[in-house]
Amino acid sequence: MEKIHMVDLKGQYLKIKSEIDAEIKRCIDTTAFINGPQVDEFKSGLSAYLDAKHIITCANGTDALQLALMALELSQGDEVIVPSFTYVATTEVIALLGLTPVMVDVDPDTFNITAELIKSAITSKTKVIVPVHLFGQSANMEEIMAIAKEYDLYVIEDNAQAIGATYTFSDGTQQKAGTIGHIGCTSFFPSKNLGCYGDGGAISTNNDELGAKLQMMANHGQERKYVHKYIGINSRLDTLQAGILKVKLKYLDQYSAARSAVASYYDNSLAEIAEIQIPQRNPQSTHVFHQYTILVKNNKRDDLKKFLEAKNIPSMIYYPIPLNQQAAFKMISKVVGDLSVSSNLCASVLSLPIHTEMETKTQDYIIQTIKEFYAQ
Ligand SMILES: *Cc1c(COP(=O)(O)O)cnc(C)c1O
Repeated sequence: MEKIHMVDLKGQYLKIKSEIDAEIKRCIDTTAFINGPQVDEFKSGLSAYLDAKHIITCANGTDALQLALMALELSQGDEVIVPSFTYVATTEVIALLGLTPVMVDVDPDTFNITAELIKSAITSKTKVIVPVHLFGQSANMEEIMAIAKEYDLYVIEDNAQAIGATYTFSDGTQQKAGTIGHIGCTSFFPSKNLGCYGDGGAISTNNDELGAKLQMMANHGQERKYVHKYIGINSRLDTLQAGILKVKLKYLDQYSAARSAVASYYDNSLAEIAEIQIPQRNPQSTHVFHQYTILVKNNKRDDLKKFLEAKNIPSMIYYPIPLNQQAAFKMISKVVGDLSVSSNLCASVLSLPIHTEMETKTQDYIIQTIKEFYAQ
């Protein structure tokens, strides 16, 4: 059998090679490496896809989050509520800007932050909520937006893992994840659901004022050439990456469907194993399965991981340590509650290979091997 990968970027590339190669060639031919035409083409495409009025492209997802916070003109010590079970970038930018990350626990089924947990953490200093749509499904944005409205808070969605997921409100209306809060942030890191061939990120908003400000913030705070209204940063998406993303955006729904099919196949076979909890779905959101993450019960996660490794099956632990327990954040963050769900998840989650090119025979082998582990 061929080597099994967590993601198969080469196989995906080969299927759209001629289109990708043409965009790369076009970029080199025009030598417009910065702010070339593909950047605007991709921005329009993404704006239409997400149904978001303003798209600001930037250098990576971490910058997207930082820019979003910068645009809100917060003051030192203002509090930003985040889940403790997420990637470090979400919290890091809060701390970098002199704000206080307030860490709350997550739902044990969806692994996402909930309105209730957020509410328990609100103080007079709270200014922003950053829900993370972890592993590919949206948090309960309807409830989160209601709380934000009640307490006059901003909501920045960390949509790095859920681009393409659709959220359904109780009145039946639908919106793409990342377009419901005041600002949405995403990453085009190669292994993300919409990945480029290097680093990239984007911010979306439907607010004209924020849109204009974010655009300036990402470009040295520049209003027009050599006129700087704000202290900004330099964060750009390369033309080359925009060209690649423009092609891949056309296939995003197809990619999400392929991931979803892989997830269902895992579900059907793993559901019968009592010692595994398969990914639980939020009924209000579609799931685009950035990760297929199981919960391994009875302290067997590390043994299962080793067993799979010995059979040449990779797996990953997203995430091994809750952020509140990281040395960098211990001193500066505020913790609300005991965060026991996050700690438990860090000790028991395991992400299995999932990607757009997964073959049934590979999946059968992975499933068979997991069953072998439990039959020992
Ligand atoms: C990947 C990721 C980011 C950061 O994106 P980069 O492009 O790597 O900077 C932020 N938040 C979450 C949840 C992510 O998964």
